[in-house]
Amino acid sequence: MKKIKYLKCSKCGAVVSEEVMYNCPHCGTSGTLDVIYDMELIKNELTKEYLKENKNTNIWRYLPILPLEGLTGAAPLQIGMSPLYKSSRLEKLLNIKNIYVKDEGRNPTASFKDRASAVGIAKAIELKKNVICAASTGNAASSVSGFAACMGIENYIFVPETIPEGKLAQLLVFGSKVILVDGDYDTAFDFCLKAVEHFGWYNRSCAINPYLVEGKKTAAFEICEQLDFKVPDKVIMSVGDGCSIAGVWKGFKEFYDLGLIDKLPVMVSVQAEGSNPVNRAFRNNKFEFDYIAPKTIADSISVGIPRNGYKALNALNESKGIAVDVSDEEILNAMTVLARHTGVFGEPAGVTGFAGLMKLAGEGAIGPDESVAFIVSGSGLKDVKSAQMAVLKPDKVKPQLDLLIKYFEENK
Ligand SMILES: *Cc1c(COP(=O)(O)O)cnc(C)c1O
Ligand SMILES: [Zn+2]
Repeated sequence: MKKIKYLKCSKCGAVVSEEVMYNCPHCGTSGTLDVIYDMELIKNELTKEYLKENKNTNIWRYLPILPLEGLTGAAPLQIGMSPLYKSSRLEKLLNIKNIYVKDEGRNPTASFKDRASAVGIAKAIELKKNVICAASTGNAASSVSGFAACMGIENYIFVPETIPEGKLAQLLVFGSKVILVDGDYDTAFDFCLKAVEHFGWYNRSCAINPYLVEGKKTAAFEICEQLDFKVPDKVIMSVGDGCSIAGVWKGFKEFYDLGLIDKLPVMVSVQAEGSNPVNRAFRNNKFEFDYIAPKTIADSISVGIPRNGYKALNALNESKGIAVDVSDEEILNAMTVLARHTGVFGEPAGVTGFAGLMKLAGEGAIGPDESVAFIVSGSGLKDVKSAQMAVLKPDKVKPQLDLLIKYFEENK
């Protein structure tokens, strides 16, 4: 494709051609590829005026810098242009001047993954692939499932048996062929790879297919546009495989290279204490990952081996980033604090970024004059069981006013 110059390995830096479908030939599956564009060419088209006049209020407005020829495979769903709220109540609570909340639960299947799936399905259609597959902790699955349903594409989904019920229900309602794998996400991922090799399906995994992360970068473009091209000092995200933070960082870099913004944010990676391989590697200044069996309530970021870890580490190193770990308790607390101050209800992984912000603010690591944005990556309705752990069950009251008055007196 003319606008794409080449693909570049995130691990060894090798330059490879677009003909390579998935990963770096030298590094194997750990060598995920970045799509490198011809910026001089794109600069002519993607200008502030172009954006101002573009009537697509979804990710397709960024077509000049997406890895697609056109919009034939673009799903007619409302993908992206999610709201970015300025929360005065959080600003007061945390004593930070500007706090912005990007609510990705507003996407078609209620998570940030929809940005990637939309591009993945469009790419599959351009490449005339009629079967797509994915391995996922749940959200990538339900997302590809919804988009495949919308566009009429056959799809196979590999998920760990521990997938939350809401996400599984989405898959089944959308009509995917679901393979419930006896094992965790790492097992499901490796199993899916084997099946892809055998059956020749198109692989939607963000950590394999270089074009998927391209969808995720649109969140950064939107933040720039929504803030009138004034970039926040810090952008805070929950991290599992690392595709999301890498994608958003790439988006900021590309707008910077196009001359649309004049500074870059510091990227903040927030992981669960029981599943923190990216943060461990970053803190130890290592460019490799050690496996520890993951354990966290935040299923979407419960990852033993980060499948896009090198891209995530590059994002942290290049942006002089910050790594924060939070406990499951802090995640559940963040869920209620966020909901009670903004009206945004996120799933555990969805609010992990915010839990990191609360921690940094508590430690005084963010100055009162800073501006920060964080992404709520998935809706709380996807995993009601976890949400119930963050709150108390209400008491039953008989429908009699005198009993209600008595109940109030006893429960002040
Ligand atoms: C996938 C996911 C993440 C993490 O994204 P990675 O690309 O795996 O780092 C965070 N939150 C939610 C809700 C997700 O579904
Ligand atoms: Zn490589």
